[in-house]
Amino acid sequence: MTAPAAALPLLPGATLGVLGGGQLGRMFAHAAQAMGYFTAVLDPDPHSPAGRISHHYIQSGYDNAAGLAELARVSDAITTEFENVPAATLATLAALRPVAPAASAVAIAQDRAQEKAHFVRCGVACAPYAVIETAAQLAAVPAELLPGILKTARMGYDGKGQVRVNSAAELAAGWDSVGHVPCVLEKMLPLALECSVIVARGRDGHIVHLPVQRNLHHDGILAVTEVYTSNLPVALAQQAVLAAKSIAHELNYVGVLCVEFFVLQDGTLVVNEIAPRPHNSGHYSHNACDISQFELQVRTLTGLPLVQPRQHSAAVMLNLLGDLWFAHGDGDSVQTPPWDAVLALPGAHLHLYGKQEAKRGRKMGHLNLTAATPEAARATALQAAQLLGLPAF
Ligand code: ADP
Ligand code: MG
Repeated sequence: MTAPAAALPLLPGATLGVLGGGQLGRMFAHAAQAMGYFTAVLDPDPHSPAGRISHHYIQSGYDNAAGLAELARVSDAITTEFENVPAATLATLAALRPVAPAASAVAIAQDRAQEKAHFVRCGVACAPYAVIETAAQLAAVPAELLPGILKTARMGYDGKGQVRVNSAAELAAGWDSVGHVPCVLEKMLPLALECSVIVARGRDGHIVHLPVQRNLHHDGILAVTEVYTSNLPVALAQQAVLAAKSIAHELNYVGVLCVEFFVLQDGTLVVNEIAPRPHNSGHYSHNACDISQFELQVRTLTGLPLVQPRQHSAAVMLNLLGDLWFAHGDGDSVQTPPWDAVLALPGAHLHLYGKQEAKRGRKMGHLNLTAATPEAARATALQAAQLLGLPAF
């Protein structure tokens, strides 16, 4: 059962709910509030980044019936900031209020095996793979999938839940090490680069996109995103946008969807994974585009018109992990990074998520560097990286 679509669009003055109080929920709430909406956040942690800045905060687990009922009571429509929300939670809420994205789409995005099957349905190339749920499937893995990456089907993020395996013996040991949970084994591909595309699709099927983002990861975590026309061959970027749109369309998706791609050394485009929400690689859109990915999330949830965003500045985004707070990389003494020096750079925009405590590997914020030209954006980003002690890219 779905809530009546006739109630949409929800105009400013309505209350928008979000499951999850992390940085993505916080930036969604900021975008909604800037447009005159009220916000409600449900998260178990009373110090969550989004909970602390929201009009309503509901301290509750994601499967707590009373907490979900309260979120539905105060909200006119509800979205999620993370894909590992139980599918039953979204289904429960959808019986009471408009919810986007739908439980059915989130269920596909939260399971790598279903996600891959969806790519195959869409005719978009992905890495050769095998699903491993039983010992028989493990034994039947074709040799040409090795060397490969064994990925848990569920709950993986930022490179967690992954084991690189070179042989059948390592594969068996890898499956042991993850406790025999359902997995996908992917063939290790020769990557030239990684990129992603963010699309936003409304209930009427209208779809818009942000420009293609080129991404650099360190230790499985996004480190740098660069967005300007010369960052990728034009034909490849067009192919990525078309593939992302068809993946969203085939899901009958409503909301903001990020599609991650690999570009192989021979120039082939291969889809990697999808995230049913705004994405770290889209954070540059706050300062480099006339509509950010979070405003797109507000527009899709409320049924407001979707207008094609325009990028007005070349952009580089640097992720700010908790490691920056630890002087010179080792020791336990915490120090505030030199924000004053960083903010003296032209086109520097600091976004911090208000997290209580810096921890190594924890996403604390990001820095957007915008400029009139790609060269200038890169030059200031490299200066910022040097000031912060981040590696050059
Ligand atoms: P996560 O959910 O943690 O982001 P990904 O599946 O995106 O997991 O993998 C994390 C990173 O590992 C990718 O961004 C890429 O750098 C590398 N990687 C993943 N799969 C492959 C593959 N099949 N071949 C080569 N590199 C890969
Ligand atoms: Mg990824």
